[in-house]
Amino acid sequence: MIYNKEKNPGWNFDNSYINLPNKLFTKTSPTPVSNPKTIILNKQLAKDIGLNIDFLLSENGLAVLAGNNTPEETITLAQAYAGHQFGHFTMLGDGRAILIGEQITPKGERLDIQLKGSGKTPYSRNGDGRAALGPMLREYIISEALHGLKIPTTRSLAVVKTDEKIIRERYLPGAILTRVASSHIRVGTFQYIANFGTLDELKELADYTIKRHYPNIEYIDNKYLLLIREMAKRQSSLIAKWQLIGFIHGVMNTDNMTISGEAIDFGPCAFMDIYDPDTKFSSIDRNGRYAYGKQPSIGAWNIARFAETLLPLIHDNKEEAIKLANDEIARFYINVNSFWINGMRAKLGIFNEEIEDENLVNELLDLIKNTKTDFTNTFKSLTINKLNVMQIFKTIEFVKWQEKWMARLDRQKESKLESEELMKSNNPSVIPRNHRVEEALEAADNNDFSLMHKLNNILSNPYEYSSEQDEYSLLPKDVQANYMTFCGT
Ligand code: AMP
Ligand code: MG
Repeated sequence: MIYNKEKNPGWNFDNSYINLPNKLFTKTSPTPVSNPKTIILNKQLAKDIGLNIDFLLSENGLAVLAGNNTPEETITLAQAYAGHQFGHFTMLGDGRAILIGEQITPKGERLDIQLKGSGKTPYSRNGDGRAALGPMLREYIISEALHGLKIPTTRSLAVVKTDEKIIRERYLPGAILTRVASSHIRVGTFQYIANFGTLDELKELADYTIKRHYPNIEYIDNKYLLLIREMAKRQSSLIAKWQLIGFIHGVMNTDNMTISGEAIDFGPCAFMDIYDPDTKFSSIDRNGRYAYGKQPSIGAWNIARFAETLLPLIHDNKEEAIKLANDEIARFYINVNSFWINGMRAKLGIFNEEIEDENLVNELLDLIKNTKTDFTNTFKSLTINKLNVMQIFKTIEFVKWQEKWMARLDRQKESKLESEELMKSNNPSVIPRNHRVEEALEAADNNDFSLMHKLNNILSNPYEYSSEQDEYSLLPKDVQANYMTFCGT
């Protein structure tokens, strides 16, 4: 492809995955689409990763985002992986995604640029390799909202609409999402090589992963055990953050858990309105395996699957290896709880630690649950001290709780103003409300993208406490008791 000089794309590829054992990927190219159109481009992200916005908006740029052309300086591939889906082990792989390359950003970070929905690959199984517009815009909205909420996540660079008609329950417009991630190495990638590769190949993947994501442990004794520990630590922080803002991933299969600690794959995810640990939204999660309250234990289950793959590298004696791995799972539980309770303290404006804090937090959560109250708006109201609207604040239980809370705040040296600031940076003023997301997607289906742009804008700084955000934090008139999300589309 010939680029005009003013529109130097900014590619700075340094592809390293391709040097891993061949089993881990297949070189393949996107399948061209007809009549692509850019629906949304994340200009800030483009800039941050060193790409030229003018180029991306040009015909040549669109051709790359649509998979109709590939930059000369890269080799594209689909990654192999396996995974436990709802507890069942399956062969998977990038069935509808293709890695365009690893971009080295101006800050020196290495990021995968991947097209999702870009056509069949050798791992497509019975799938068509394609994605529909709604789900790709949904991934865009949710991933960028998580980023705004300061939660580690894969990012969305662009969504391109195509003229392909995607056959789902009905014909849907096709789309391709450009995803940017620290890497796409998953628990499932390790499961794949542990099951179908040699010990040397497993070691190569583990060494590569350490170099790429945990360079601080590269030269430490028993770095493979430390890989479990460090990965589990990032996951404990990630999942605690989900719990603290009421995010339900919805499909925490082991292929949807990254080793980097970023949230990935936003199919049936949603934010909880009324607080209830049993909340689930995914239509395919019939038994509530991935319900809100189960996320920490499912996280541990997934990390156990990860640890299993590394057993032969941890210790020659299998029993000993299992014991060491189990210690790391125990450590995960301790960490997730400690990240969570510290996050909860911050949500209540508490700076220091007291043993009784966990009881204080749980008493409030019980009250929110029993009064069937909105999770986000309870904390928002406490933050701005607006306690005259919601019913929960009129109960005797709340008044009693509030006295304890006030006494607790009085026992720390920080002022009420400092507490308020802490609360403001930990309690979002707005989250992607399910009805707002649906409303934006429905309009987008009818070629009106204005609602989506407005929503993205409002969600970009959720700790801003603007009046526009107040409007978007309202619940729909009839809270969707039966709100369902669908994945695999
Ligand atoms: P997910 O549920 O999105 O994590 O996807 C699970 C697996 O199914 C992954 O290996 C995907 O690449 C694959 N997959 C999902 N949708 C399609 C599709 N339309 N065509 C081919 N593969 C797909
Ligand atoms: Mg997935």
